Amino acid sequence: MRGIIKNFGGQRGDPIRVPDAEAAAARSGVLDAKQRLKMFDALEAAGISWFWATDDTGALTYLSPAAIGKFSDDRPVIGEHLGSLVETVEGSDSANRTRPLTFLLSARTTFTDQPVRLAGSIASDDTESGTWWALTGKPQFNKNGDFQGYRGSVKDITAMYHAELASSRAAEYDSLTKLANRHRMSRRLTTVLNAYRVEKRSCALLMLDLDRFKQVNDTLGHPAGDELLRQVSQRLEQIVPDGAEIGRLGGDEFQIILPDEDDRGKLGELANRIIQMISQPYSIEGSRAIIGTSIGIAIAPYDGIEPDELVKATDLALYAAKGGGRGQFRFYSNDLKESAEDRREIEEDLRDALAQGELEMHYQPAVDAKSHHVRGFEALMRWNHPAHGAISPVTFIPIAEDSNLIDELGEWALRQACEDAAKWPDEITVAVNVSAQQFVSDNLPKVVENALAASGLPAKRLELEITESVFMGDVDATDQMFKKLRKLGVKLALDDFGTGYSSLSYLRRAPFDKIKIDQSFVRGCAQDDNSSAAIITAIVSLARAMNMATTAEGVEALDELKCIAGLDADLVQGFIFSRAVPQTAVLEKLESGELRYEPVGPAKHRSSRKTLFRRVGVIHEDHHYSAMLRDLSRTGARIEGLVDVPVGTQLVLDLGEGQLVVGTVRRSQDATQGLSFETPLVSDGAGGLCTRHRVSPYMLAAAGMPLRALPPGHYAIPGQQGTTASTPKFMQVDVNAGSLRAG
Ligand code: C2E
Ligand code: CA
Ligand code: CA
Repeated sequence: MRGIIKNFGGQRGDPIRVPDAEAAAARSGVLDAKQRLKMFDALEAAGISWFWATDDTGALTYLSPAAIGKFSDDRPVIGEHLGSLVETVEGSDSANRTRPLTFLLSARTTFTDQPVRLAGSIASDDTESGTWWALTGKPQFNKNGDFQGYRGSVKDITAMYHAELASSRAAEYDSLTKLANRHRMSRRLTTVLNAYRVEKRSCALLMLDLDRFKQVNDTLGHPAGDELLRQVSQRLEQIVPDGAEIGRLGGDEFQIILPDEDDRGKLGELANRIIQMISQPYSIEGSRAIIGTSIGIAIAPYDGIEPDELVKATDLALYAAKGGGRGQFRFYSNDLKESAEDRREIEEDLRDALAQGELEMHYQPAVDAKSHHVRGFEALMRWNHPAHGAISPVTFIPIAEDSNLIDELGEWALRQACEDAAKWPDEITVAVNVSAQQFVSDNLPKVVENALAASGLPAKRLELEITESVFMGDVDATDQMFKKLRKLGVKLALDDFGTGYSSLSYLRRAPFDKIKIDQSFVRGCAQDDNSSAAIITAIVSLARAMNMATTAEGVEALDELKCIAGLDADLVQGFIFSRAVPQTAVLEKLESGELRYEPVGPAKHRSSRKTLFRRVGVIHEDHHYSAMLRDLSRTGARIEGLVDVPVGTQLVLDLGEGQLVVGTVRRSQDATQGLSFETPLVSDGAGGLCTRHRVSPYMLAAAGMPLRALPPGHYAIPGQQGTTASTPKFMQVDVNAGSLRAG
């Protein structure tokens, strides 16, 4: 505000018209009282300056009529205390801080260009609006030195004040969403981190990137995209706790600075709430749109001390969250750096894979649930990488989606699959997976049509498998796409049903011929999980009522097959009949004339339970041992490597990166112990687990370690460093990961 006032000396009103005689008198320097009064009137009338005066109590005795006009009509002005007519507003920045006018008046000091706002000239607490004046005042004393009141001038600075405020806001805030802009966020982060380093406080940084925002922008247009961003901002402001600062860094990227938060349990909950809130449908100019968001989280001082370190860490975490299938959050961890590099390498190689002939389509049969006769094949893409060997589509399809390669790969898959299927018997169909990204491209119907024409495959023999994520984005455009594809005569299947956003309302909206029930239900069904069986039954009967067929996916074991057969699904697909095989193998099978598949598999599903073979530190008293982590759950772990540790012993597991977990030995046999944790672990957003809190680098610094984000490896608890070992309590045996893996 002070800055604003300084600049405004240059403002000029209309030229003052002063009668000639008076002008002459003025030039000569002699003005009588009458002339002076006229001059005063002229100045006032020209609006160059308005005048005011108070009595010794501060009550207004005079105010230029034009200035009085600025108050609402029913408000008394003359006779009112000046301090009640105008208010001084304290800005949030120290540069804007002003002393209250009442203070200045009672101090009877001279003041110049004191900015004030007319009381009642704003509706809310919004510092930007209202009428602003700059008041100059000089106390008046009589001959005896008694205070008589004030006299002074008023300038209306409203326009200038608003203009300056707007430009200073433009430098700091995003005009679209009114959130802080990149510049302000980066300054804030630097300020917070610098202050917190001294005070040994923590600060979380969240980075958000909207999923499928581009889709909405492209299909509904930029004004709709802008509106969506505004609504997203409003939702964020509702969820984010007090004290946090939200910014929009540009495009569909948002950042949140959350001071004094390092509890990963709470941060994970907040991230989940944000994800849920952002994924609720939006109403935009009469259209409905659905988007999602991915979130990366890093926490100072653990993941970075300097602002740029912390920002880089959140970026990597966000990158991993997006790679993990979107709609997820991720905490930063040191190994993300490595996987980000792998990803970049894959992306580069993928650009050439098609041209190099490294991609291939394989086919997995879908058989009739009762007769086990083959009805069709699902085409699944395979990549034989010259150096890394086979790379799973689970890895490379999301990368292709992110790097705009999916259209090219998808088109090739369609052409190849149609060409191969054209060589199969007439009644056998081919199913091709279509990524949601391809689904929004206007080209898709043409691409499908061309693939059919080139191969001569009748449209009804081609089935497109689509996941629920196509329902994100613009609803009308999605419906249009469904119509166009239907018109071509191809079949449509809803893939992975029951995962993700799953809503039965999708079934009503879209004309599917088939629902593919996700493998997780098949797994659950055989494991006496009644809810899985009930869900399958519900899906099957619903599908039947709507004239849709059902496929149970991922059947591996005989008990699963039996369970599925009992639930009336039409088709079955899974390793129990066959994995995906090359076209040559399909042709061999078909030429044999034997169109049935025999179920071959284990009696029961063997869970490919993620057994961990991670080396961890174990701390007991003042000894740091090394052990293998065999199993990890929220509430406990199994470790191998220490011999004969008695039940009841308290151990501290060092999971790396400052994650220490206190546990008690509950079971112990030879070199293996089962531990239960004092404090449960929390989700790391990636299906893994992490501790809520970590050992702070500040603590390590206090113990003599250099202050920097924690190194990946294990370290001793501060205070125990350098303690030379008394005899260790337990014997440590060397279990190595390789031998365990082989066993
Ligand atoms: P999806 O469409 O759900 O395909 C089924 C996946 O389950 C395939 O994995 C298949 O090999 C696997 N599977 C089949 N039977 C069993 C079983 O009994 N047990 C287990 N554990 N797995 C079984 P795959 O080939 O690795 O493909 C993974 C995903 O990659 C596919 O999931 C699909 O979403 C995507 N994908 C594959 N090919 C393409 C493609 O050409 N285009 C697009 N856009 N996505 C593709
Ligand atoms: Ca599929
Ligand atoms: Ca599937």
